Amino acid sequence: MSKKIGFIGLGIMGKPMAKNLLKAGYSLVAYDIVTDALKEVVAAGAEEGKSPKDVAARSEIIITMLPNSPHVKEVVLGANGVLEGAKPGTILVDMSSIAPLVSKEVYEKVKAKGVVMLDAPVSGGEPKAIDGTLSIMVGGPEDAYKEVENILKAMGASVVLVGEIGSGNVTKLANQIIVALNIAAMSEAMVLATKAGVDPEKVYMAIRGGLAGSTVLDAKVPMVLNRNFKPGFRIELHIKDLMNALDTAHGVGVPIPLTSQVMEIMQALKVDGMEKNDHNSIIRYYEKLAQVEVKKN
Ligand code: NAD
Repeated sequence: MSKKIGFIGLGIMGKPMAKNLLKAGYSLVAYDIVTDALKEVVAAGAEEGKSPKDVAARSEIIITMLPNSPHVKEVVLGANGVLEGAKPGTILVDMSSIAPLVSKEVYEKVKAKGVVMLDAPVSGGEPKAIDGTLSIMVGGPEDAYKEVENILKAMGASVVLVGEIGSGNVTKLANQIIVALNIAAMSEAMVLATKAGVDPEKVYMAIRGGLAGSTVLDAKVPMVLNRNFKPGFRIELHIKDLMNALDTAHGVGVPIPLTSQVMEIMQALKVDGMEKNDHNSIIRYYEKLAQVEVKKN
């Protein structure tokens, strides 16, 4: 019989990921502070957890999918948290995107109680979370990784152990830098094409098969052309990731000038009240500068 899985954090990403585990036949005990999200996953077949401590006491493998470092610390180490309920030998798989140093800190604290932790953030966004085709980048001990590999494969098309604890989140920061800069490049280019009088949809169709083509282009240009800024991935979460990228980079002595530029663009969007919108809203910053709108003709 497969081990019982605890799943904490049933937001945009966690909800479909938990549902995919249920579909794959795993038995789940789930928890979120938002009761509607919890009810939906319970309706899909999970048991209802009462708190992170309760979830931990009732499972052998615990997955967390929370917004940021403080949430992970609170849920794992805080009052009524995972560590209060977890038995020695439990594997904690934190799939949230958080600061690599916090992954290391939490790893050391849970290790003292016989709990092994992996950091396993994901890329691919809501559509790939729904399809079960996420890219999952894992850091931590190989034996623990081997034990959860099949569980991760029920949520992802690609699962790679990249190194020791914290490596998953370093990899995710690299991913987030590339995504942010790609969206900014796409925005700059599409605003230029539109204001120069060329149909942006035709520009996209003409270039998507060449060197400028990318997953970002294919995911974000159609959304922009339809003026769809519903998240997806919120500006406020990408700000969090770039903050972690800047801190981590400066901590190891790496200047990241382009990332800091895109961070300022995102800060401007936040001031403009757009932090809850998809990160494709970067284009709206450029549209304001150029006084033009990129849309279907
Ligand atoms: P979200 O805000 O939609 O979901 C987070 C969930 O955590 C919410 O349901 C919230 O209620 C719950 N939560 C917060 N504090 C809690 C607590 N103390 N106890 C229990 N539950 C708690 O965020 P999301 O978009 O699902 O992202 C989750 C993580 O995945 C983030 O780190 C994000 O950066 C990362 N991520 C998101 C995407 C995306 O496209 N949305 C893609 C890749 C990675």
